[in-house]
Amino acid sequence: MGGRDATMVLLDENGIRCDGRKIDEPRRIMIRAGGLKNADGSAYIEFGDNKILVGVFGPRDVHPKHMSNTDTGILRVRYHMEPFSVGERKNPAPSRREIEISKVIKEALEPAVMLEKFPRTAVDVFIEVLQADGGTRCAALSAASVALADAGIPMRDMVAAIASGKVADTIILDVNNEEDQAGQADMPVGYMPNLKKITLLQLDGVLTSEEYKKCVTVGVEGCKLVYEIQKQALNDKYFGKKGD
Ligand code: UDP
Repeated sequence: MGGRDATMVLLDENGIRCDGRKIDEPRRIMIRAGGLKNADGSAYIEFGDNKILVGVFGPRDVHPKHMSNTDTGILRVRYHMEPFSVGERKNPAPSRREIEISKVIKEALEPAVMLEKFPRTAVDVFIEVLQADGGTRCAALSAASVALADAGIPMRDMVAAIASGKVADTIILDVNNEEDQAGQADMPVGYMPNLKKITLLQLDGVLTSEEYKKCVTVGVEGCKLVYEIQKQALNDKYFGKKGD
């Protein structure tokens, strides 16, 4: 999250945003299931200019052993940005922000994964952000759900994610980097459409309670669009396109 630049035109008189989208229009989303032969499951997502690769390993033995749980499996998530993924080189060491995002993605995925079926084991999710342009946590969470399904891990549902937000006093869907920096609010939402449960909800910025409700609704509706693309990615790999 950056400083708010009040001079930038985020919404013109025709209701068109700085990247040419309408207020309720997501960026182009492409998800591919599979692709990493050494992982148990994987997925690649392009979400606007975000490019993110996810590898899933497990269920497998936990090392060190004392971290394991005799009653249930555990989920471990590492979100990592490549130094070249942003304009200004990022230090490759884990930042506070990456530790926070790893934690929120893990907590957003946990309700979806039937970890109780794999006591004493761990499922590891490695997220590599190759290119970032605002909204990486949502894109990564959506791709991680597909990668977990690709690994054959039993799940209650997939988590789909997208951010809603507020620019020029208007609620919008899918906040890009400029809108995140210069807009009024950014609300990443993760949602399981079949179970109708929100598993990620963050808010940076200030909203009235009416705007808050609208942002949640717009975010949830956006998640339903992402969900269709997630399902299509799995369909393409397992029932459709050949060669994967
Ligand atoms: N960003 C950056 N350098 C960093 C971290 C983030 O340029 O070290 C950019 C990147 O494009 C990212 C955006 O800032 O997508 C917004 O970051 P935020 O923390 O809001 O998370 P995100 O929106 O990616 O989930």
